[in-house]
Amino acid sequence: MTNLDPYKTRADFPILHQDINGKPLVYFDNGASSQKPKVVIDAVSNYYSKSHANVHRGVHTLSQEATNMYEDARRKLKTFVNARFEEEIVFTSGTTQSINLLAFSIGEKYIQKGDEILITEMEHHSNIVPWQMLCERKGATLKVAPIFDNGELNVDAFKQLLSYKTKLAAFIHVSNTLGTVNPVKELINACNANGTKVFIDGAQSAPHLKIDVQDLNCDFYAFSGHKLCGPTGIGIIYGRKDLLEEMPPYQGGGEMIKTVTFEKTTYNELPHKFEAGTPNIAGVIGLGVAIDYINNLGLLNIEKYENELLQYATKQLIENIPEIKIYGNAKHKASLISFLIGNHHPYDVGALLDQMGIAVRTGHHCTEPLMSRYGIPGTIRASFSFYNTKEEIDKMISGLQKALNILS
Ligand code: PLP
Repeated sequence: MTNLDPYKTRADFPILHQDINGKPLVYFDNGASSQKPKVVIDAVSNYYSKSHANVHRGVHTLSQEATNMYEDARRKLKTFVNARFEEEIVFTSGTTQSINLLAFSIGEKYIQKGDEILITEMEHHSNIVPWQMLCERKGATLKVAPIFDNGELNVDAFKQLLSYKTKLAAFIHVSNTLGTVNPVKELINACNANGTKVFIDGAQSAPHLKIDVQDLNCDFYAFSGHKLCGPTGIGIIYGRKDLLEEMPPYQGGGEMIKTVTFEKTTYNELPHKFEAGTPNIAGVIGLGVAIDYINNLGLLNIEKYENELLQYATKQLIENIPEIKIYGNAKHKASLISFLIGNHHPYDVGALLDQMGIAVRTGHHCTEPLMSRYGIPGTIRASFSFYNTKEEIDKMISGLQKALNILS
């Protein structure tokens, strides 16, 4: 048992207290995006009502206030991931932009013809396509480490794929489709020993697990605010300062420059070198408040409670839905379950659940190669957050039973 009371926490989330299709909302699509507590909604609204001005540019009071709020949020993010320096936190629009930034800037600096980039079979499209684009641009090769049927990474195969050609390894901390928590420390150690730079896609881990980039000893780590109770359109990439300093900027424009002439431009210091143009100020401020909110609940409490939900839901699904097949049975899993029932198409099951007010995700979850690996078009995915309850899981089970009666 944990000391996290979901019924108390739910009160902080206005959106959860409504009917969808005439039934109380059960929101199990947290892997796609989490809901927002009122403090975050208020922080964004208050910023626009009282403190809005552009950042880093004005001597006037409002601009300074907005800049202080913006940089204050960066300090919160630094502590959240335990970075050494504030300037190691670069704000982006989310994980996708973080990876595109990295693929461009690391690609320009470190990747040449004949080099290899290593990913895994369970990556999200965001952690596949930018690397493919980079490989095409530079004449490099993308290597893919396989997984086992139970959804765990074949760590030996991953290590065997590391060679003198492997300049970068990029892999997820937690799989958005299988729930697998990868043994990231072991993988990072292997990469470091091989002189391979490491990027971790933390889109699905940051909302559930304590992140410590110094302890992990990775070079880059990214996540999105909207999966972490923050606003959409905001996220971060953490990068080791010495590497960020060496890498060229991703985009050109205002704010990322020191001096500009028609002949030559010199670039601003970190982190501004990577933050061209007017940033998502409200998003940054909202994310800072979301981090406070999560810290207040405690990530260890969150992890413990969500694990209880995962164990309960897995047991109930297996006991009550005989035809169920769960995809992703790794020993170490985060709080989501991907499944199919008999031959029923995931969309049919998902649409019927929606009629009962139950929101789950259906489809390939932006992991088409993973779906091909299992020979399926997609799955139904229920992903849990700390504000979900066992009572809601019971509702999903009886909803699934009703859906199956209708479909058969
Ligand atoms: N990586 C993983 C593992 C994800 O689950 C997601 C989103 O679902 C992303 C990357 C992309 O995140 P965003 O769409 O917020 O950029």
